[in-house]
Amino acid sequence: MEPQMKRWKGSEFDTDSWVAYPVLSDEQSQDVELVEAFAAPIVNKKETSRLVRELNGLYPLDGLQHIKRVRACKEKDSPHPLEVLVCLVSDAPDRKAVSIDSLLPSDGVGRDGLGEPFVVKVPARPPLTRPQFELASKQWPTSFHEDKQVTVALRGELFSPPQKAAMHMYMMSAIAAARAGKEMGMEAVGAVVVNPATQTIIAVGHDCRGDHPLHHAVTVCVDLVARSQGGGCYSFDRYPACRFTSPTSDTFQNVPDAEGSSQPYICTGYDLYVTREPCVMCAMALVHSRIGRVFYGTASADGALGTKFKIHSQKDLNHRFEVYKGVLSKQCEGLNKLDNHIL
Ligand SMILES: [Zn+2]
Repeated sequence: MEPQMKRWKGSEFDTDSWVAYPVLSDEQSQDVELVEAFAAPIVNKKETSRLVRELNGLYPLDGLQHIKRVRACKEKDSPHPLEVLVCLVSDAPDRKAVSIDSLLPSDGVGRDGLGEPFVVKVPARPPLTRPQFELASKQWPTSFHEDKQVTVALRGELFSPPQKAAMHMYMMSAIAAARAGKEMGMEAVGAVVVNPATQTIIAVGHDCRGDHPLHHAVTVCVDLVARSQGGGCYSFDRYPACRFTSPTSDTFQNVPDAEGSSQPYICTGYDLYVTREPCVMCAMALVHSRIGRVFYGTASADGALGTKFKIHSQKDLNHRFEVYKGVLSKQCEGLNKLDNHIL
């Protein structure tokens, strides 16, 4: 086994040489925002449930349902084992001379069992990812509804070795197309559209903007997918590396009635592999074509799927999709260097 392992390790077939990480939305990637609150020690533990009930009535902490009201005291030797959130600093009746008396009007909450208040910071929003949850929990105990797929994806472990081998092969096709385009005087960018259900390549395209300013690799590829379905606007016949696969009969098995009200869009259910992060125009073309997932090799300075914008996660657009970056990153960086060399 050993000689074979050596031959594959570090070669262009080595799927361990890259990791695909998800490009998450701003909400999922941002830092944990904190707000100040008053907490107080519970000096008599028996009063805890009454205090929580009465404090929830007086200061309900609207919008902060992810925050736990009571926490165990951090210092082990503390005379009081529990601390309770009284209210947000912004909700306090008098923020200057703060005492437990000033925070609790006499007819609202019985102060028995409560010590003097102090300021803590609590997470302003529910955590969306495990890293956010871990940071938030350092400040104050926080509940977390974990999306396991996101957690595994952030560790770079979402895809199994056979899946990675297939992804590797698709990106190699995109790289080969980029090189072919480069040889014909275009920018070294390549793209491949794949049907993951059948594991077939539908279209392969490369940058053709020497012919037309809008013919970036991604738009070329989307047009070739349209051609494979009997549509498409352009001919790329003079570029042998730009090609599409004519669909088999079962590809159209879901095409409904002539009205086409539920007819799939051009790229419904398909994956795109592209050597470089797409620009805004290409990202919008992917939204319109209803792409399923996008995998790219390297980031672009004006990239619209993570670097400058995150068009795939815009809530006000009518289609969103998953994006992963880093597939064959070193080889894709090598392509970018070819272009930079010319510039
Ligand atoms: Zn583009």
